[in-house]
Amino acid sequence: MSRSSNSVATPDSLLRQEVLAINAYHVPPSTGMVKLDAMENPYALPQALREEIASLVADAAINRYPDAGAHDLKQQIREVTGLPQGTDVLLGNGSDELIQILAMAVARPGAVLLSVEPSFVMYKMIATFTGMHYVGVPLTEDFSLDLAATLAAIREHRPALVFLAYPNNPTGNLFDAAAVAQIIEAAPGLVVVDEAYYAFASASFIPQLGRYSNLLVMRTFSKLGMAGLRLGFLAGGTAWLEQLEKLRLPYNVGVLPQLVAQKLLQHHDVLLQQAAQIKEGRVWLYDRLAGAVDVRAYPSEANFILFRVTHAGRVFEGLKQRGILIKNLHGAHPALEHCLRVTVGTPEQNEQFITALQESIHQSV
Ligand code: PMP
Repeated sequence: MSRSSNSVATPDSLLRQEVLAINAYHVPPSTGMVKLDAMENPYALPQALREEIASLVADAAINRYPDAGAHDLKQQIREVTGLPQGTDVLLGNGSDELIQILAMAVARPGAVLLSVEPSFVMYKMIATFTGMHYVGVPLTEDFSLDLAATLAAIREHRPALVFLAYPNNPTGNLFDAAAVAQIIEAAPGLVVVDEAYYAFASASFIPQLGRYSNLLVMRTFSKLGMAGLRLGFLAGGTAWLEQLEKLRLPYNVGVLPQLVAQKLLQHHDVLLQQAAQIKEGRVWLYDRLAGAVDVRAYPSEANFILFRVTHAGRVFEGLKQRGILIKNLHGAHPALEHCLRVTVGTPEQNEQFITALQESIHQSV
């Protein structure tokens, strides 16, 4: 039986206003490009390790659902991370999924998610589609925390959830640890320190987990060479994680990601060695950017560098024409006017990027 036309639902009539209002997370096509837009590790794994992975995958029981508790993998994560006693781990299909689980858990009517701006866009996006009220406190001109403004916003809005990316994306800096500690102490709800870029940074809040009952630390293995596996984790007190675990879909981390991640974490040293090479590349790249005409580079503790030019759009397009894809942040936030973000690549890629950048800047003026 056909329904009369005026009863047929359309997205506009059926979907929640919050969903209709979101701009989709845009992933640009990158086939054939030097891909320096998404903070991926540019290095391949050693051949012997790839062969071990191939045989693991060949024998994997992909006809079976994964180990829902992922016990072995969690144990390994505890060990390589050096988690303090009394803390537990929640696994996510990427840390994006953990942000979503956290927001779903606290999204009572009127609940607030607070972060700083500019920062990782998914905090605001997930707050919006889970029906939370989002508050973004501006960073200072050099992208430091504005502690007084953040504490005032915490007093005013009483956020259920605070996210601080440490180091921050897209700015690359680590916030002042004492200021972060004051925020944790002042917050009436949970504070999640998002250490997505921990492998490239000189500081971490993992050792503080035992000290603050409202602190959770989130990490991802994406930037360490496993972006394709989709694996992140949240570490914190058992009482919190037991509850959050209820919102995790039972099989969110598949058989293959579990197996491959376990194998890679047995070779954590290989990944850390690659991270060390990336950090060397960052120094090289920062020196070139800082010395370039018409460029202001921001210091970074991550595997990317934010920089400002005179005509971001033109420079971005110039790079694209030369086969190099980075991220154009102009228009993403008022503080990011004419800003671009480049992921550190291999030494060859970094050189290609710098050459193409110089040509593109020259052409843009
Ligand atoms: N947090 C921050 C600060 C990020 O920059 C990113 C990725 N860009 C993520 C979390 C999400 O990473 P993933 O979902 O790959 O674990």
